[in-house]
Amino acid sequence: MSLYVMKFGGTSVGTIERIRAVADRVIRTKNQGHDVVVVVSAMAGETDRLVALAHSISKIPDQREYDVLVSTGEQVSIALLAMELKQRGYGATSFLGHQVTILTDAAYSKARIKEIHAPRLLEALRRGEIGVLAGFQGIDDHGNITTLGRGGSDTTAVAVAAAIRADVCEIYTDVDGIYTTDPNVCPTARKLSRISYEEMLELASLGAKVLQPRSVEFAMKYNVPIHVRTSFSDVEGSWVTKEVPEMEAVLVSGIAYDRNEAKVSLIGVSDTPGIAAKIFSTLADANICVDMIIQNISAEGRTDLTFTVPKADLARAVNLIDGIKDIVGAREVKTSTDIAKISIVGVGMRSHSGVAARMFETLANAKINIEMISTSEIKVSCIINARYLELAVRELHESFGLDREQVAEENSFAGAG
Ligand code: ADP
Ligand code: ASP
Ligand code: MG
Repeated sequence: MSLYVMKFGGTSVGTIERIRAVADRVIRTKNQGHDVVVVVSAMAGETDRLVALAHSISKIPDQREYDVLVSTGEQVSIALLAMELKQRGYGATSFLGHQVTILTDAAYSKARIKEIHAPRLLEALRRGEIGVLAGFQGIDDHGNITTLGRGGSDTTAVAVAAAIRADVCEIYTDVDGIYTTDPNVCPTARKLSRISYEEMLELASLGAKVLQPRSVEFAMKYNVPIHVRTSFSDVEGSWVTKEVPEMEAVLVSGIAYDRNEAKVSLIGVSDTPGIAAKIFSTLADANICVDMIIQNISAEGRTDLTFTVPKADLARAVNLIDGIKDIVGAREVKTSTDIAKISIVGVGMRSHSGVAARMFETLANAKINIEMISTSEIKVSCIINARYLELAVRELHESFGLDREQVAEENSFAGAG
């Protein structure tokens, strides 16, 4: 007998028929003699609808009330699934974040889980019931509702799996595993039977939304094996596990992209000590994560500073920058939302040179201009015009041989599953 955490994403619970299919799968696992905790997202499209409602009240909605609103989608799906399970004669109890309890910090809309105490859930399991948990939500120290950022139900699932020492965390989604890149963008993307926590964390952080980055961090820290698979069939999915030596053999293991960043340029800021500190501490104090930064060569004591922030935080960022515009001496603040970030990832890059050069060459051959670059030990990222994103994904996928069979050999890991 094992303890399973099974997480179902929005598409998997998108209709009543799909919720019934989820119940079938949960019941099957239960009937095999396992204990089951289910974590569910809001029904497909619901969180987007709630976000749009908030923005119809204000361009910068009150952050506390925003979380109260956008967390409601999950309440609907846990209730429907628990009802269906009970109707079929299975004991089940639904739990909201604060009923579990999932304790987070107070960073509304991007809260981080601090602790999980799950006495009621464990009690329900002891009674032989199925626990049905709302993903994406928690409460802070003052009892305010918080949400974990888009895609946050993945993190709820893995964090709960770690807290109750589950044997496996299954993530059921609308693709049948983790691919070399988004299979909905690149038809030649290849399914990986296994990927390391480290590479998956990098891919997820760079935009591969199949798993939320925080969920991979939890899995890595607490050694929770993740099995990403489809809720539409029984095929084996992809495992996210510790690194095994064969993974080093592959130079580039995946390509990720992110359309959710926006670019801010501060034109003509004074080139004196403390200016960058002022700008970025102002944004950090407001919990806005800055990703890439470039500073131009200065002329006559002035310089241009360009950086990227999440699109969702752009309005707030511009407001804050406007407030300190005179202090930092900016002549103009320009923004652009038609950018995209494309990244190549691979632990094999650590010991090989020329990977970045090949990426730049591939983009150049496709006549795609690179606006910003950043690198780390196991990734290279470029900001390009969003219009060319899909082309860039396909060109790089081909250029690094990710679609080819012989690479498939190198890329397939022994003993997967
Ligand atoms: P869910 O609603 O189940 O959480 P998401 O939409 O958040 O599902 O994540 C699944 C999506 O992630 C897929 O439909 C796919 O478009 C996208 N995706 C991006 N990169 C990858 C990748 N490398 N492998 C698989 N899916 C990916
Ligand atoms: N419902 C939330 C979202 O759409 C959380 C999730 O699906 O993981 O982002
Ligand atoms: Mg998701």
